[in-house]
Amino acid sequence: MRKQIIIGNWKMFKTNSNAIEFVKSIDSQVESNSNLIAGIAVPTIMISDLSKVAKNIKIAAQNCYFEKEGAFTGETSIPMLKELNVEYVVIGHSERRDIFKEDDRLINNKVKALIAAGLTPILCCGESLEIYESGKTMDHVKKQLSDDLKEVSSDQVKNVVIAYEPIWAIGTGKVATPEIAQDVIKGIRDYLASMYGQEFANEVLIQYGGSVKPENIKEILAQPDIDGALVGGASLVEDSYLGLLK
Ligand code: PEP
Repeated sequence: MRKQIIIGNWKMFKTNSNAIEFVKSIDSQVESNSNLIAGIAVPTIMISDLSKVAKNIKIAAQNCYFEKEGAFTGETSIPMLKELNVEYVVIGHSERRDIFKEDDRLINNKVKALIAAGLTPILCCGESLEIYESGKTMDHVKKQLSDDLKEVSSDQVKNVVIAYEPIWAIGTGKVATPEIAQDVIKGIRDYLASMYGQEFANEVLIQYGGSVKPENIKEILAQPDIDGALVGGASLVEDSYLGLLK
C-alpha cells in the first residue's frame, strides 16, 4: 500500500520568528504515523532553525541549484540542504517556471542532482488554463515529465515524488474536481508505467495541488490514484494545516 504525503508550501510567506512559533505549536499535535509523510516546504533561510524544532513533520525546501558549489550568487546547493537534514525538495513549481523562467533542462538537472545526493525531489507538473481548455493537459504533462526525468534510470526514479498542480487551480480558489484530478493523475501513473514499468507506477507517490483545504482534502484523497497533496495557502494557518492532516 502506498503512503500518503501532505506537504505545505509556504512560498515567500512568514518571517523566521513567526515560522518557529508555528512549527513549535503544531509539531507536537502531528502524530508520527508511518503511513503519512507530513511536511512543510519553507523559505531556505528558515530551514536551519525549523529543523531543530520539528520532530514529527519534515522541513522541506522549495528549491535548490544543481551544482555542488561555485559562483552562483543567491542560490542554495544540495550539500547545504543535506547538512540541515532536508529530505524533500520541491522542484519545478509553476511559480519557478513562470516567474523565474526555469525550463525543463534546468529542472532535469536539479532532479538528477537531488537523486544523486539521496534527496527526494517533489517534481511539479501541470498545465495552464489555456492548455486545460484546449484539451491538451495530458500531452503537456507527459512532455514535462519526459523532459524533467530525462536520463533518470528506473533505479533512480524510485526516489521521486510527483505533484500534479493545474496552474489554473493554484491560489485561485478553483479546485480541479476530484474526478478531473484523478483522471490526470491516473494518466500520469500510466505514463510512468510506460516509461519505467508497472511495478514502479504502482508504487510512485503522486500528489494533487491546487486550492486544497481541510474542507475538500478528504474527497481528493479518496481518489484511488491520489496519494497526497501539495498545499499553499491553507498550510499557512495552524488550524488549517492541522486540519489537512486529520
Ligand atoms: C502551491 O503552492 O503549490 C499550491 C497548490 O497553492 P494553493 O494550495 O494555495 O493553491
